[in-house]
Amino acid sequence: MTEGYQHSRRRSRAISGAAPLPPPRELPVWRRLLLPPDPLQLDAGAEGELLVARVRTVLILLLLPIPFINMALDPGNRAASVIGLAAGVLALTLALGAQLLLRRDFYRPWVGLATSLLDVTCVSAGLAAFLAVDQAIATVNSRLLFEVYFIAIGATALRYDSRVSLAAGAMAILQYVVVVLVAYHRFDVSNPLLDHRGYGAFDWATQVSRLVLLGVTTLLAAGIVLRSQRLRRQSRSDRLTGLPNRSFFDDRVAAELSRARRYGTPVALLMIDVDHFKRFNDTHGHAAGDVALKAVASTLQEATRQSDIVVRYGGEEFVALLPDLYPVAATERAEMLRHLIEEMPIGLPRRSEVARITISIGVAAYGYDGTQAEDLLDRADARLFQAKEGGRNRVVGPPPEAEAFVIERRASGGHGSSVQSIME
Ligand code: GH3
Ligand code: MG
Ligand code: MG
Repeated sequence: MTEGYQHSRRRSRAISGAAPLPPPRELPVWRRLLLPPDPLQLDAGAEGELLVARVRTVLILLLLPIPFINMALDPGNRAASVIGLAAGVLALTLALGAQLLLRRDFYRPWVGLATSLLDVTCVSAGLAAFLAVDQAIATVNSRLLFEVYFIAIGATALRYDSRVSLAAGAMAILQYVVVVLVAYHRFDVSNPLLDHRGYGAFDWATQVSRLVLLGVTTLLAAGIVLRSQRLRRQSRSDRLTGLPNRSFFDDRVAAELSRARRYGTPVALLMIDVDHFKRFNDTHGHAAGDVALKAVASTLQEATRQSDIVVRYGGEEFVALLPDLYPVAATERAEMLRHLIEEMPIGLPRRSEVARITISIGVAAYGYDGTQAEDLLDRADARLFQAKEGGRNRVVGPPPEAEAFVIERRASGGHGSSVQSIME
């Protein structure tokens, strides 16, 4: 009856995932600029953001003694030192706040853009602050602060979104132009008497070359992002279906489960396998099999939420991780997916007729079936085996008591350890 269904999760074949997800090149540039961030890069962006936050804090800490040194060496210029110190303390507070939020798993797609813009704006504000203490020549010829623009723009590459690099670079150029124009028109920057500290004479050629350097740095940062995005996409997605692959899943699942652990939210894992796919290939040909797999992949993706993770786990096997779904709702969702695939016509290549396929699904519930990815995969696979045994084209979910267990676990603050340890 099982017709050769092998019950072993390790059977999953590694998929090479050698090509990128097809980029949405058909969209006009302005539409591409407004697309949501690429989900395959989001976790890299979050890690990069945390790294930038740490570097930012260290950099501010290293620069913080400078106003004190100035105060000691140049007591006549107290105002500038005090402003420098106040700015340093404010920047340090913001930097530590950002670091704290990120360490508590707070990361949203817009955070990279916001912090990048804030970083370059802080540099511009620092340059503008020289105007407030009558040191316009330091604004236009600053030696240290201007260079921080390059660090800020270079660090945008760690946000893994080229639009963030372009936006931060454009913002730096715009703000710098405004600050220099204000300095030029409001202050006598060509007057050597204003240049107490040997910044040198103001000249337009220097200003233009500074803008060129900012522009080139911006383009380089965006280029680095585009290239590394392509490599990441290639290594973490599947060439045939465009879905993320098993390696992406392995990287992401721990973070999703640790969120569930921390907040006590439910998570369901679906293991989905196409029924009699070998027979489908034998009957209709391998090319038709490929078309069917692509169709299954796009139906699964379209029918799930953006927060769900759907991957091609192996040959004709898919895994979906569905956050915030209790066992009963997850089983219903699986049933809905099964029904959609059953109803889906598959256009056969070079033939006018259509074919149909079915899938079987095993569902596992975080908490009830375990708290590690391995446990959930094993339980889902065992239920998938039951579904195959039971005749295929069906869903096997956790037993009815799982629902109450998961609800109880949430009520007990997410750890549910006492109940859980008895059950496991
Ligand atoms: P069951 O209902 O028990 O799952 O039977 P099955 O035939 O689907 O399972 P089995 O594991 O025996 O066969 C899986 C088939 O999937 C064999 C393999 O050729 C096919 N397959 C795996 N990857 C691809 C692919 O990328 N393209 C095509 N066309 N076929 C694939
Ligand atoms: Mg299989
Ligand atoms: Mg199969």
